[in-house]
Amino acid sequence: MRIPEKVRVGYIDFKVIMQNQEVTCDNVVVYGKISNSDGEIVICDIYNEDQKKATFLHECIHGMSDCNDIGLSEKQIKKLGIAFYEFIKDNPEIFKENE
Ligand SMILES: [Zn+2]
Repeated sequence: MRIPEKVRVGYIDFKVIMQNQEVTCDNVVVYGKISNSDGEIVICDIYNEDQKKATFLHECIHGMSDCNDIGLSEKQIKKLGIAFYEFIKDNPEIFKENE
């Protein structure tokens, strides 16, 4: 998978911003964050590829949970993000169109 410049989650188009310095949320250093009101997902660019992609998915799952009123907890999103990342990495062929 790759991290796109834009992503649509539910009914919101997000701009994906790779930030080459610490990302903070409420004065806490985080790997990434999502803002529905700004339409932005910010990913901290100083970590390795696996971490950045997993963070991107994690933030998208936050968006899916919000848009669809699922109400996932941070703990559930953390575990789902890792589970989805592994699943996508282990099964790349299922995301390709049929030829
Ligand atoms: Zn989170």
